[in-house]
Amino acid sequence: MSFSLSEQNDTIIALATPQGVGAIAVIRLSGKDAITLTDEVFYGKNLSKQDSHTIHFGTIRDGEKIIDEVLVSLFIAPKSFTKENVVEISTHGSSYIINQVLKLLIRKGARPAKPGEFTQRAFLNGQFDLAQAEAVADLIHADSETSHQAALSQMRGGFSSEIQELRGKLIHFASMIELELDFGEEDVEFASREELRALVERLLRVVEELILSFDLGNVIKNGVPTVIAGKPNAGKSTLLNALLNEEKAIVSEIAGTTRDFIEDEINIGGVIFRFIDTAGLRETTDTIEAIGVSRTQEKMKSASLILYLFDLTDTDMVEINRDVNKLENQGVPFLKVANKIDKSNSLLINELKDKHPDTIFISAGNKENLEGLKIKILELVNLDKFKTGNTVVTNVRHYDSLVKTRESLLDILGGLDNQVTNDFVAMDIRRSLHFLGEITGEITTDDLLENIFRNFCIGK
Ligand code: GDP
Repeated sequence: MSFSLSEQNDTIIALATPQGVGAIAVIRLSGKDAITLTDEVFYGKNLSKQDSHTIHFGTIRDGEKIIDEVLVSLFIAPKSFTKENVVEISTHGSSYIINQVLKLLIRKGARPAKPGEFTQRAFLNGQFDLAQAEAVADLIHADSETSHQAALSQMRGGFSSEIQELRGKLIHFASMIELELDFGEEDVEFASREELRALVERLLRVVEELILSFDLGNVIKNGVPTVIAGKPNAGKSTLLNALLNEEKAIVSEIAGTTRDFIEDEINIGGVIFRFIDTAGLRETTDTIEAIGVSRTQEKMKSASLILYLFDLTDTDMVEINRDVNKLENQGVPFLKVANKIDKSNSLLINELKDKHPDTIFISAGNKENLEGLKIKILELVNLDKFKTGNTVVTNVRHYDSLVKTRESLLDILGGLDNQVTNDFVAMDIRRSLHFLGEITGEITTDDLLENIFRNFCIGK
């Protein structure tokens, strides 16, 4: 995420209420010129002379022309959501009026806000701590229910408090060991190695869990990468189209006319699935052999879900068994999807029901049983965890720090196993603290010293 300072100096404007006709609409401005800009078009009072948190009646005019009678609410910096000057103009809810007011103020110098920009400014101006801010920033474009849930739970600070608790415990041990170092040659042991080991193991479990949650967090943010794999003409493009409900992939009678990967997203039950069309499969006749096509292979590997699609009119059990086998070895969750039930023979269907009872039968062409497919997709990815408000790591920087924390925690354990000297253990602990501190933006060494002095009065 990067913001140029000049952008931050702009006064931004946007409709704060939903698009469409309502009884009233609220247009919001934020920035240092929010009030003076509004003053230029507002007739009734001099807004610059009014107190914060007051509401004023008047008209918005474009030259001589009255656009609307409005109420203007004032929030003077820093007592506003963004901590900047904020003006909210309540107009009548017609789209004509809304557009006129927006255009007028943009002409006067306001800039249309980017998505989430009001919230961005709120935390850039210090409303949240680093970890929370980053989590929110990452999720700010979230448009699915799950991403919204994750954003909410992180704003409440679950993530930060968990990390802080971890660090607190580790800092305690670090100070014990530093103490031992101070005693030099004397053979004292303030920090029980058994307890240290137990703590590090506990920390490891939590860190591992957070690391794992990154995959889930990633899914929330970027969608579940989903590959539709199948032979040419199995109906992959048709299925994608049916799911997207619009003509985004080229459907053709001719095998292999889908020239490139088409990535697109659909929202199933509040979860975003990012579909990756597998055009590369046309280069070979064997479905799973085709996984060898390098780009396809790459896509398959990064997929969290594979829809193995086959044409009931053009596939036999031997082929299906072989493909399923190979997919099972790949380790990516997959669904067996039999296409073209409208044209297929009941013999193969019955055999499939017997040998592969989890097969989903659809007709992509006729949009038959797509709901059934969606239900199975949701079941397979099992994202219930998201909805319980568990801590989910969504930020790459946090993830990197967690991975480094894990490494250094493992080093502590290794050191304990090999009975290395105290200074090495202390060093590994300090490294772990450092990486944990990177997440919340705290400074580790100061904490460490402070803790030592507060608890032990070493300075006599
Ligand atoms: P792809 O090569 O796997 O992407 O396959 P396409 O989506 O291009 O489909 C190949 C052909 O199968 C097209 O002519 C589609 O109209 C047809 N097709 C796709 N789904 C169905 C279906 O459910 N029933 C029937 N009868 N034809 C289908």
